[in-house]
Amino acid sequence: LSAPSGAGKTTLIKNLFSREGIPRGSIVYSVSHTTRPPRPGEIAGKDYHFIDRPTFERMIGEEAFLEWAQVHRNLYGTARSEVMSHLDRGVDVLLDIDVQGARQVRQHCPEALSIFVLPPSLGELERRLRGRNSDDGPEIARRMEVALSEIPEWERYDYVIINEDAERAGVELAAIVLGRRLRVERMRESARSLWSSLAGAHNP
Ligand code: 5GP
Repeated sequence: LSAPSGAGKTTLIKNLFSREGIPRGSIVYSVSHTTRPPRPGEIAGKDYHFIDRPTFERMIGEEAFLEWAQVHRNLYGTARSEVMSHLDRGVDVLLDIDVQGARQVRQHCPEALSIFVLPPSLGELERRLRGRNSDDGPEIARRMEVALSEIPEWERYDYVIINEDAERAGVELAAIVLGRRLRVERMRESARSLWSSLAGAHNP
């Protein structure tokens, strides 16, 4: 999942995990590593793994990241260990990553599903960034500039959500996740065993 900062992605993600129809534990959030210092209220290990630059660079050298990128002067990356063990157990993993990271994931994991969240307008995006109060003026201007460079990337994604109304955007995100789970390639095993029990009952 990617979106320009301020598009409402964090709320959207939070709502997905508490939504009916998405069983608890069937999808987990991938906690990224970053060199960015924590914002007030952010919890280490829950929002991010906050690490220093030398540690991040060592992890790059060890190929510990599935993807990584520099965003807003800081480094961000998804550790392979954060993702692979869940996928092996059949649990979906949600990555909240920027457009550079999404390109890398699409390249290395063609089965990944990519979603871009757009704000309803640039004016609304700026209003949401200012409303946050966590960034100062120059930081908001920088984030707006980055947003303008990221938004054209929407065309490379599988799905686009326009986040005008949080509730509706939440329903749309859940629909994408559930729709993917019902595809034949994911349903094959359950459908086969159901079919063989039905066939067995019909021809005892
Ligand atoms: P923030 O500093 O506001 O939490 O995040 C800034 C940007 O970094 C967001 O667009 C977010 O999606 C992106 N980001 C967060 N974690 C990762 C990551 O692991 N990899 C990449 N490529 N981007 C990330």
